[in-house]
Amino acid sequence: MKSQISQLRAYTPGLSPEALKKKLGITGELHKLASNENVYGPSPKAKEAVKAHVDDLFLYPEPNAPLLQEAIATHYDVAPEQVVFGAGLDEMIVIISRTVIRSGDKVVTSEGTFGQYFHNAVVEDASFVQVPLRDGAFDLDAIADAVDEETALVWICNPNNPTGTYHNTEDIEAFIQKVPSHVTILFDEAYAEYVTADDYPDTIALMKKYDNIAMLRTFSKAYGLAGLRIGYMIASTTLADQLNVIRPPFNTTRLSEQAALAAFKDQANLEKTVALNKEEREKFENIDTTLTLYPTQTNFIFVETDRVAELDEALLRAGIIARAFPNGVRITFGFPEQNEVIRQVLSEF
Ligand SMILES: *Cc1c(COP(=O)(O)O)cnc(C)c1O
Repeated sequence: MKSQISQLRAYTPGLSPEALKKKLGITGELHKLASNENVYGPSPKAKEAVKAHVDDLFLYPEPNAPLLQEAIATHYDVAPEQVVFGAGLDEMIVIISRTVIRSGDKVVTSEGTFGQYFHNAVVEDASFVQVPLRDGAFDLDAIADAVDEETALVWICNPNNPTGTYHNTEDIEAFIQKVPSHVTILFDEAYAEYVTADDYPDTIALMKKYDNIAMLRTFSKAYGLAGLRIGYMIASTTLADQLNVIRPPFNTTRLSEQAALAAFKDQANLEKTVALNKEEREKFENIDTTLTLYPTQTNFIFVETDRVAELDEALLRAGIIARAFPNGVRITFGFPEQNEVIRQVLSEF
């Protein structure tokens, strides 16, 4: 066995609503707002697409989802070969790590970010460097300073999970210019569709200027297709070709390709989701609470507290399952009535 596996543990999901109810003796309904899923669900057209393709279940999928690949390439004005698919971004992170990291290489990111960067770097025997967050955001200057000759990859989660904070074009471009070009900078933009700030980076435009950067997007969050497992990366043709060597040939499915294609074409539905989310998000901006709420551009909010267990339980007693972290609690936005309950708990805490 790879000795580094003993440092890691398999992902443990939170308790199910049923198990939590039993454990805490809660009788009312519990709403799972712990995984940043889109409570409004996908475009109705995505559901129709799944139904329309059930008769193809016996067939292997077309490798690298060509219809979806073409649609995405056209949308971003890149070559289809630059678009590579994974069974969610989770698998893209495995593929990239396996492709790029050599034993002993350095992988640099922030503390307080998505855990799979660490997990896969350790599997590939990298040394993993995590720079502390500054006010809930990545400290881009300190991250650039941590990069050295041994660094293979830098992960920038923008907006960041779990804090919800984002970096604008100016900061991101200045950061890219500070990082040496032998380092691949990966922008994990799982929540990009939710961003409404005008100065959020156009990473594809930046890719046309800097060839050591790549962008990751998913259909699991704003597109509401977390259950179907499909995400993608847009990279230089050179990197994309290498990723395809590692990518299992049939890693996505016919149904995920068709549903994602229908969802991607239904931008009107996406806009509806984003507008509803923004309306709900703004209601959290001026609530009366002594807790620290990080500014968010996503479909969740991070509440900083040193009383994590207490806040988590107060939310559970109000029917809300959130996700606890060492320094706070991340809560996914739900339907308006659930968000009202969350704000009440935060004000009273
Ligand atoms: C949810 C999430 C992912 C993984 O999403 P998939 O469902 O695997 O596409 C990747 N990165 C971040 C930051 C996320 O929040």
